[in-house]
Formats: sequence, structure tokens, C-alpha cells
Amino acid sequence: MRIVAAGAAGFIGSHFCDRLLAEGHSVVALDNYLTGSPANLKHLNGHARFAFVEQDVTRPFEVEGAVDAVANLASPASPKDYLRHPIETLDVGSAGTRNLLELARSKQARFLLTSTSECYGDPLVHPQVETYWGNVNPVGPRSCYDESKRFAEALTMAYHRQHGVRTNIARIFNTYGPRMKLDDGRVVPAFLDQALRGEPLTVFGSGAQTRSFCYVSDLVDGLYRLMLSDERYPVNLGNPCEMTILEFAERIRALTGSRSEIVFEPLPEDDPKQRRPDISKAMRVLGWEPRVKLEEGLGPTVEFFRSL
Ligand code: NAD
Ligand code: UDP
Repeated sequence: MRIVAAGAAGFIGSHFCDRLLAEGHSVVALDNYLTGSPANLKHLNGHARFAFVEQDVTRPFEVEGAVDAVANLASPASPKDYLRHPIETLDVGSAGTRNLLELARSKQARFLLTSTSECYGDPLVHPQVETYWGNVNPVGPRSCYDESKRFAEALTMAYHRQHGVRTNIARIFNTYGPRMKLDDGRVVPAFLDQALRGEPLTVFGSGAQTRSFCYVSDLVDGLYRLMLSDERYPVNLGNPCEMTILEFAERIRALTGSRSEIVFEPLPEDDPKQRRPDISKAMRVLGWEPRVKLEEGLGPTVEFFRSL
């Protein structure tokens, strides 16, 4: 297949390109480097089946030739990034997704949207199932991201219903691995950086809020399977191994052998109190479940951060 991947210079996008190329596909990668980096794709320079175009997907653009699939991974994703770029975040979820859906429609290509667990907001149903409609504050600081993704999901379903585009929607839960930005504020790079430097680990709130962390190769495998499937409604992709953020801080300390102390800082507004994906749909429809345990995935992640 010839696949257009938007957001290719980002953390997940670059790993997704690697997987597509490993499967024998050709990739046309688009990115405007808003939160991504050329370094994430440097190893693909000169690859015969890989082409990169610097492009803001909220602006009009064309892709020449046949296209079999369009994958939309373009969007700031870390709270620090989308709080710094709230309007760009809303634009890429709306206008950017529209342009990419139009591309898919005009080329009769399939379309994959990378949505998010943030669609569930601060969830009142636990673990989160795809049929839960969520508890999102539409005017809070995180709304630029949450509502952008909820709009993108609605637009994707409208293109499927109106134009028959073969769409897929992934609701991605917290994912980690090499090529994350050390300073993007997300908890995995933040704690690893602090632990490796011997600085205090900054736990927000009491640390009782829960998350679970999916290694990027597992996530990309789920995305790839979903893109090839006929499932039109959202599918959760994430690791169901849930822990409190305080427990996570302690595991990071143990894993890195760090003597960093733990300090408590204010909880950001609307920070979800609990989060864990119900992945029974992904298991049933895609035959997918995560395989990489936290200790296994943190090893290469630590190596990557040490190399920076
Ligand atoms: P990232 O910030 O590393 O990558 C996003 C990429 O999109 C960047 O390279 C950025 O430059 C690019 N981009 C942003 N706006 C663009 C525009 N207008 N035109 C072209 N490119 C643009 O983030 P990520 O963690 O790799 O996330 C990838 C996708 O997965 C996003 O859609 C995100 O919402 C989703 N997601 C990620 C996570 C996670 O834990 N990482 C969780 C849920 C959902
Ligand atoms: N967090 C923390 N310390 C940090 C960064 C994040 O305690 O230095 C917490 C954050 O408040 C949230 C969880 O870790 O409860 C996950 O945050 P992240 O930004 O990684 O992703 P989110 O799931 O909130 O989108």
C-alpha cells in the first residue's frame, strides 16, 4: 500500500512509519514540526519507500498519485504541548482532520484517526469502555485537546456515513517509549529525567490518580491491525495494567536505582482521577493485547533518554 501518514515526525507517528515500512508499504510522511522533530525520522533519510513533505495539514495540500490509506497522527498530545498551542490543537483536529478525510475520499483510500482516552474526560465509568460517552469539561484548559478529538471522531463518522470512507478510530491511552521528548511534561519522561538526574520526582496532587502505560511497539501493532480492519466505531488501545501515580514514581525509583525523593506539587485542573482502558473490544475484533511489561519497556526508554 501507499500510505500518507500525517504527524509522522512525532513520537508515535515515527514508530508507525517504521512499522509500515517494515511491512513493505510505501510512506508519504507529512508534518509541520509543531511538536515533532526531524531527528525522529533521520534514520529514514534516503529510504527508497519513504518520502517526507514539510506540510501543515490545516492548510490546503495535494498528494500526487494513488493513495491506499491515510493515517492521521497529527496533533499535539502532551498536556504541556496542547496548553501551549490550544488553537493549533483545535485547528489540527478540525481543519487538519477534514483535509485528510478529503484526501482519503478523493483517493478512495481508507482512513485511520488517532483519537484519545481524553474523549472520556474525567471518567465516571471505570474501566473505560468505548460505549461510554465521557465526562469532559468543554471549557476547561484541557478542552482544546478533548473537544478537538471528539470533533475529529464525529467528522470521521460523518465521512464514513456520508461518503462511505472506510474509516477507523483508535482511542489511544497513555503510551511511552523512545523518541518521547524529555521535556514534554508527560509523567514518563518527567519521572525518568528526574530519577536519572537525582532530582526530586514531582508527583502532582496526592498521587492517588491512576494511569496505565502502553509501550509504543504494542500500541503501533494495535494501530496497524485496526487500520486493516473493518471496525468503524472507536477501539481502545492501551495497557490495562493500572497503577497510582505514586506507585509509578516508586517503580521508577526502584528501576533506575535512584535515591530521588518524592515531592508533591499541585494537581493540574481537570486532571482525570482514574484511567484504565477496557480492551476487550480490541482483543475480540483485532486479536490484540499489549505484550511488553512496564519493566521491559522502560529499559529502552531509559537508554534513549541517556543517549540524549
Ligand atoms: P507528538 O506531539 O509527538 O506528535 C504529533 C505530531 O503531529 C508532531 O510531529 C507534530 O509536529 C505534528 N503536527 C501537529 N500539528 C500539525 C499540523 N497542523 N500539520 C502537520 N503536522 C502536525 O504526539 P504523539 O504522542 O506522537 O501523538 C500522536 C497522535 O496520537 C496524536 O494524534 C495524539 O493525539 C494521539 N495520542 C497520543 C497519546 C500518547 O500517549 N502519546 C495518547 C492518546 C492519543
Ligand atoms: N504527573 C505527575 N507529575 C509530573 C507529570 C505528570 O504527577 O511531573 C501526573 C499528571 O498529573 C497525571 C499523570 O501524571 O495525573 C499522567 O500525566 P501525563 O501528562 O503523562 O498524561 P495525561 O494522562 O494526564 O494526559
